[in-house]
Amino acid sequence: MFSSRQKAEVHIEKQASWLKYPHKLNLYDQPPLEDITVEEFESCAIDRLRVLAEIESSFARNRPFDELKTITLAQCEKYLPMASNTAITVDRDAQRWKDVVGHFVLRLAFCRSEELRRRFVKAELTLFRVRYDNCSPSEIKDFLESRDFGWTQVDGAEKTKYFTQLRALSIQKAAPQQKAPPTDVEHLEEFHKVRWTRVPDLVERRKVFLQGGWAYVPAREQASIVFQEFQSRLENSLEMTAKALPRLDEDTRLIPILENLSQGFLAGVPSEWSAPEGSGEEIRADMIDELSRKHFPMCMRNLHDNLRRDHHLKHFGRLQYGLFLKTLGLSIEEALLFWRRSFSGYTDDQFNKNYKYNIRHSYGLEGRRANYPGKSCQQILTSDQPGSNDSHGCPYRHFSPDNLQTALLSMYASQGLTTADLPEIITTVKAGHYHVACTRVFEITHAMQGVKKGEGIGGGESVTHPNQYTTTSRQIERALVESVKMEVDGDVHMET
Ligand code: SF4
Repeated sequence: MFSSRQKAEVHIEKQASWLKYPHKLNLYDQPPLEDITVEEFESCAIDRLRVLAEIESSFARNRPFDELKTITLAQCEKYLPMASNTAITVDRDAQRWKDVVGHFVLRLAFCRSEELRRRFVKAELTLFRVRYDNCSPSEIKDFLESRDFGWTQVDGAEKTKYFTQLRALSIQKAAPQQKAPPTDVEHLEEFHKVRWTRVPDLVERRKVFLQGGWAYVPAREQASIVFQEFQSRLENSLEMTAKALPRLDEDTRLIPILENLSQGFLAGVPSEWSAPEGSGEEIRADMIDELSRKHFPMCMRNLHDNLRRDHHLKHFGRLQYGLFLKTLGLSIEEALLFWRRSFSGYTDDQFNKNYKYNIRHSYGLEGRRANYPGKSCQQILTSDQPGSNDSHGCPYRHFSPDNLQTALLSMYASQGLTTADLPEIITTVKAGHYHVACTRVFEITHAMQGVKKGEGIGGGESVTHPNQYTTTSRQIERALVESVKMEVDGDVHMET
C-alpha cells in the first residue's frame, strides 16, 4: 500500500511528465521554435537581464556566494520566478518558457564580442549554480537522470582496486564534519569517472583521484561536472551564434533591441520611472536646493551645483536635469518658476525666447507632445558624451579620478563620506562599474539612517536610475520621521 505522501509524489511526477519543460534546471540546448512577438522577445530578455545585471554587480562588490544567492533569488522572485514541480497550481511551463526565451534572446545580444561572451557566460553560470543550489535533492536527481553527462559510475570492483586513494578523498570530506572515514568499500560514497579535462577546477583543487586520464569524482563534487558542462556548452553555442549573427543584421526591428540589451551590464536595467500624479509626491521649485543636498545622486547634484554657480546650464545639462526634476514630481508651472529664477542673468525676453519652449517641450506641451521620461543611468552613461565644458553625464564615468575624489568629498562629506571610503569607490570606478560605485555612495551617505553595506537601495539592488536613488532616499527619510513621530506620540500617551 502507498502512503499518502508517496501517492502525492507519484501524482507530482506524473504532472511533471506532462510539462513541456519538466525541469527547473535547463542546459538550453533547445531554442524555442514557436512564434514570439517582438514585445515578448524584448520583455523576456529584459527581465532576465535584470537578474544577470544584479549578479554582475555582486561580482563587482565581491559578495560571498551565500549573499549573492540571496540577492539573486530575490531578483528571480520579482522578474523570473521559477516554481518547483510541487507547485501544481502555478503555470510552470509559462515560467520556464519565459526563462528559455530570455536566455536565447540574450545569447543574440551578448555573443557579439569576446568580452561580452565572457561576462554573459559567467553571469549565466552563476544563475544556474544558484538555482541548482536551491533545488531539492529529488529535483536534482530527476534533472541529472534526464541527461547524459558522459560520466560512468564507478563499480564495486574498481572501488576495491583504488580503495586507498578513494578513501583518502572521503577523509578530506570527513575531517571538518568529524565523521569517521569509511573502513570498507561498502561505506565508500558514490564516485563517477570522467575525462580529467572536463573537471579542471576539481583537479586544481585536488578534489579528485586521477588515473589513466580519468578523474574519479566523489558524489558531493558531481555538481562541478554539471557546471563545467553548462559552461562549455554555452561557450560553444555563443561562438556559433556569433558566426550566424550577421544574417540578422538586416532585421531593423531586432538589432536596436539587441544593441540596447548588450548595454545592460554597464549600468543595470532600469525600471520605468514616471512622475507620480496626485500622490502627494509633487515637489516645488523652492524645495529643490534642500532636496539636492540631501537626496540627489552625484550626476544631479553636480548639475544643480553648476546651475547655482553659473546661473546657466547647456542644452544636454538642462535636458538631463529637467527630465529628472519632472519625473520627481515638479509640475510645469513650478519648472518654469525654477528655471526662470535659476537663469537670473537673463531678461524675461531672453528666457522666453531661448529656453521656455524647450522646457514646455520636455513636458509634452510643444512639438510632438511626447511625454519624455527621466533618463536612466544607462542612457546617461552611454549617450551624448559630455565635452570638457559640459556638466551633464555621470561623474563616476566622466570625471577624472582626482576630480571625482574632490567632488565626492565636497558633496557628501556632510552625509558621512570620508577619505577612507574613497579607495573602494575609485577601484570600483576603475573596473567600469559606475552604478555600483554610486550604490556604495548611497549606502555610505544613508548609513546614519540605518542602511547597511551591501543593502544597496533595498534588498541588495543597485542604483539603475537617478530618480530611483532620490525616491528611495526620500522614502528612507520619511519612514524615519514617521517612526520618530510614533515614538513621541507613544511617550505623550504614556504621560497622559
Ligand atoms: Fe547618476 Fe546613475 Fe551615475 Fe549614479 S550611476 S551618478 S544615478 S548616472
